[in-house]
Amino acid sequence: MLISRHALLLIAASCVGAAALVGCTGQNASAPAASDQAADDWKTGLDEDTVRAFSKLSDADRPAALAQKVCPVSDKPLGSMGKPPKVTVEGRDVFLCCSGCEGDLKREPAKYLAKLKDQ
Ligand SMILES: [Zn+2]
Repeated sequence: MLISRHALLLIAASCVGAAALVGCTGQNASAPAASDQAADDWKTGLDEDTVRAFSKLSDADRPAALAQKVCPVSDKPLGSMGKPPKVTVEGRDVFLCCSGCEGDLKREPAKYLAKLKDQ
C-alpha cells in the first residue's frame, strides 16, 4: 500500500514538471529577444557590403531579393553594387544588381524572366 501511494506521488510530480516545462518553452518563443534574433537571421552568411545593401530594402522587398540572390541580367550577386533596384516586368518584381541592367531587362523581359524560373 505504501509503495503504490509513493508511485502515485511520483507520477503526479512528473506531470507537474512536464506542464511547467511546456509553459516555459511557450513563454520563450514569444519573448522580444527571440523575435529580434529572427529579424536578423537573413544576414547570416552574407558579407558586410551585401548586408548594408539589403538593409536599404523595405522589409516587404527584402525576402524576395534574398530569394532571388543574383541579377538575371549580369549574373552578379544582388547587393554587390548597393541597394538592388526593383523593376516590375510582365507583372513580376525583379531585383537587379544596378540600375544599368534595367534597360536590358526591359528590352528582353522574357529572356531574363526565364532565367529566374530556372533557379
Ligand atoms: Zn547590373
